[in-house]
Amino acid sequence: MAEADTHPSSAPLTHEGHAILFPPLPYDMHERADAAVKDTALLSAIESATMGKYEGRKQMCARAFGDDYPAMRKLAGDIKQHTLDHLDFYLEQFIERAEATGAQVHFAADGAQANAICLEIAKRENCRSCVKSKSMVTEETGLVTALEGAGIETVESDLGEFIIQIDHDAPSHIVTPMIHKTRREVAAAYRRELGVDCTEDPEELTKIARKHLRDIYRKADLGVSGANFLVAEDGALVLCTNEGNATFSVTAPRVHVAFVGIEKLVPTRRHLAVMLKLLARSSTAQPITVYTDILTGPKRVGDAHGPEQMHIVLVDNGRSAILADPALRPSLRCIRCGACLNACPVYRKVGGHSYGAVYSGPIGAVITPLLRDPAGYKDLPNASSLCGACYQACPVHIDLPTLLIELRKRLVEQGKPKRIERLMYRAYAASLKSPWRYKLSQWLGRKWLRMTADRDGFVHRTLPPGRAWTDHRDLPAPAKQSFHQWWRKEKGTKAQRHEGKSEIRNQK
Ligand code: SF4
Repeated sequence: MAEADTHPSSAPLTHEGHAILFPPLPYDMHERADAAVKDTALLSAIESATMGKYEGRKQMCARAFGDDYPAMRKLAGDIKQHTLDHLDFYLEQFIERAEATGAQVHFAADGAQANAICLEIAKRENCRSCVKSKSMVTEETGLVTALEGAGIETVESDLGEFIIQIDHDAPSHIVTPMIHKTRREVAAAYRRELGVDCTEDPEELTKIARKHLRDIYRKADLGVSGANFLVAEDGALVLCTNEGNATFSVTAPRVHVAFVGIEKLVPTRRHLAVMLKLLARSSTAQPITVYTDILTGPKRVGDAHGPEQMHIVLVDNGRSAILADPALRPSLRCIRCGACLNACPVYRKVGGHSYGAVYSGPIGAVITPLLRDPAGYKDLPNASSLCGACYQACPVHIDLPTLLIELRKRLVEQGKPKRIERLMYRAYAASLKSPWRYKLSQWLGRKWLRMTADRDGFVHRTLPPGRAWTDHRDLPAPAKQSFHQWWRKEKGTKAQRHEGKSEIRNQK
């Protein structure tokens, strides 16, 4: 198995989209998030798309499952957890059964190795052009950059990914890669890059892309895909799409290569049915995706369509390290439905590119540091209000807030607290040791914040160390009086209250 020279995350990236996704580490999220919250067009595009899906998912799940929805989520979570807990067994079973169907299974320890396997296959089979359907794992490994670097012309066939590619951009959402783009931007990219005269009508733009892709499907030698699921019992590879592009991408070319994370397994087709019921409802609020391809091996004698060769590249790329950590293992249950992104108030305000990685939103905040570099992405686990909306939305019952807290805890334990932080925590601990110290500290804090507040009632800027907060967030000024003060004023002193109670007792 040939080794590529460098890991894609450290290699110089020429593909503009990947430069957006992979900034130099350590990554500071604040700059991009600050720019995003000021971009009103971006916010309105993200807000309308995510809210539509968020509401749609709730209605669709309520209609389909009714009161059984919590049990359904629990079942799906248990299926995935069971598979992860016995992944060695199911991986072996899958490899054996997939090879029996005629597929060739490869294993890649990291992204560079996965790309190298694909390049080797392409070179051996003399593939000059590639058509690719949507796959998050190939984004993770930087496969398009690697193929283009080897002179293999590669075209994305998913409409969103196609637009992202021609506009030299990067996906910003797991399911809806171009969620951050407006129609106007898409039309401008078509005119500039495809040289077509078009309006901003989505139907027209879709037809142009479809026509453009037809020839590419016919001519491509290599078809690349991901997989939504792998079924251990019969070695099947499952693809769920709405455009049918994956079906073309993997059946028209001579060679099919699928990049799949090792966590994508389910034991049997019965378990697959549970996942299919939840995936489309959670991601796009549909009862099921328009196309569900269940592929078992390459074209056989008598088959009308299909590739001559089917290669399945099982990609680890940091997953086995997560698997070995019981506290964080549940993050591998993820079926990439994107529901947690749509539900997350932080994602909706800062957009996917702010996360500086392939996976954004709550699940991205958990798995990006784990898959890539915990210290390099230390901002991400903190990019959450821990409101729990992601947990409520997740169809496989991943307790994302708990995972985020666990990551925060580990980052704090690894890092050395600053002197000023230590002093602050000591002062805070001292203030909690007696009621009068606590009251005094509260009074002083309130006074100080009220003095620094602007007329709009918000503290926009304050002195260090509080500036670390106000540099990126506005703090509402505290109320004129504390709750205790209000309570005393409204309800009287303790003695008066006691008197009142005695009176009531006497009346009884
Ligand atoms: S964590 Fe859950 S909600 Fe988020 S993408 Fe994964 S499966 Fe969907």
